[in-house]
Amino acid sequence: METIDIAVIGGGPAGLTAALYAARARAKTVVFESGLPGGQIVTTDWVENYPGFPDGLSGMALGDLMHKQAEKHGADFRSFAGVEKIEPADLDFKLTVDDEEVLARVVILATGAVPKKLDVPGEAEFTGRGVSWCATCDGALFRDKVVAVIGGGDAAIEEAIFLTKFASRVHIVHRRDELRATKCIQERCFENEKIQMHWSRVVKEVKGADGKVTGIELGATNGDPDELLPLDGIFIFVGIDAKSDLVTDLCDLDERGFVKIDHNGLTSYPGLYAAGDVTDSDLKQVVTAAAKGASAAFEALRYLDNRLCSI
Ligand code: NAP
Repeated sequence: METIDIAVIGGGPAGLTAALYAARARAKTVVFESGLPGGQIVTTDWVENYPGFPDGLSGMALGDLMHKQAEKHGADFRSFAGVEKIEPADLDFKLTVDDEEVLARVVILATGAVPKKLDVPGEAEFTGRGVSWCATCDGALFRDKVVAVIGGGDAAIEEAIFLTKFASRVHIVHRRDELRATKCIQERCFENEKIQMHWSRVVKEVKGADGKVTGIELGATNGDPDELLPLDGIFIFVGIDAKSDLVTDLCDLDERGFVKIDHNGLTSYPGLYAAGDVTDSDLKQVVTAAAKGASAAFEALRYLDNRLCSI
């Protein structure tokens, strides 16, 4: 069975930075990624709050640079290699990857998160036929059309602004009467004439005909009557769910399913570290994912050294 020092699971900013630090310390480091390296940021049009890039850069470019840097320093990348299982094996971990087994001395979990669903009628039926979770992927399909963005956080408001490049009208539907998004993003949203706010509204149903979205039924959280909003597409950004299934039986999760870590990235299980959006850390940004990836790798290397010294 192949034996490695540090298995990094997930190739987003947290995993790529952990891999960079581990590989530079000459640990045998393998990044397992179920798709291609980059993580959620590759679906982000523009990143303008990652230090060192005053003009910003595309999420795709940032992911690519991080990947190249980790690879240049010796990290081994296994793309389209989803880890199916992690099992303790004495002090090590046995990973099942594409029906093969790999032994890792340490695991750094950086599997990230997936966008939440609304769980309303019509959402599943019209996914890919007007319902989307990725403005960068699908925005251009809605040139001169009318779309709605659901949510009031950073993702919803940034992506709504991005969609105004294509759509003739972008409705933002938010369940409260104030946004959660960062103030400077809010300012740009309120200045944009293509955006129309729908405060204190929730989606009750996605309506469609002939296999495509035709509108959404909105309910009010302030006592107003329900209304039907005709449109061509709906983009859902109502938060994220942790991709923590692999470690549910191994370490402690919080009540929302995010992996609990200490300030060094250690989970409740020895030798298992975690970083990035999969963890219970508050600030979910590229820069914090990268920083936490570095901390987790640093601690993982120290743990490995201590183990080797005590043999
Ligand atoms: P978020 O910050 O958790 O915001 C989710 C939004 O969806 C909130 O406005 C919430 O409303 C609303 N919502 C939640 N459940 C809903 C439901 N069932 N129906 C209707 N609305 C619902 O999530 P996010 O925007 O995806 O961001 C996730 C993390 O990534 C955050 O930490 C965020 O700061 C970070 N992020 C940062 C950037 C950036 O810095 N440029 C970009 C994207 C994401 P309430 O406000 O009423 O709770």
